[in-house]
Amino acid sequence: MPWCEECSKYWTPNSMNDDGTCPTCGRVVEEPTSEAADDEKAPWHFKLMIGVLVVYLGWRFVQMVT
Ligand SMILES: [Zn+2]
Repeated sequence: MPWCEECSKYWTPNSMNDDGTCPTCGRVVEEPTSEAADDEKAPWHFKLMIGVLVVYLGWRFVQMVT
């Protein structure tokens, strides 16, 4: 949860300004948790593509051996 040292207060992402600054003092508040979560959710299609590729290569390998 974002912490403002200036105000000694925790902010929820929704209660902060849109640019990630403190609504009380205007200081830039770090928000490592929410941004990291968004980054991990974003490339779900990339993981799906890797999964399909692994299954495809595995299938090709089985066809090669048999
Ligand atoms: Zn503040």
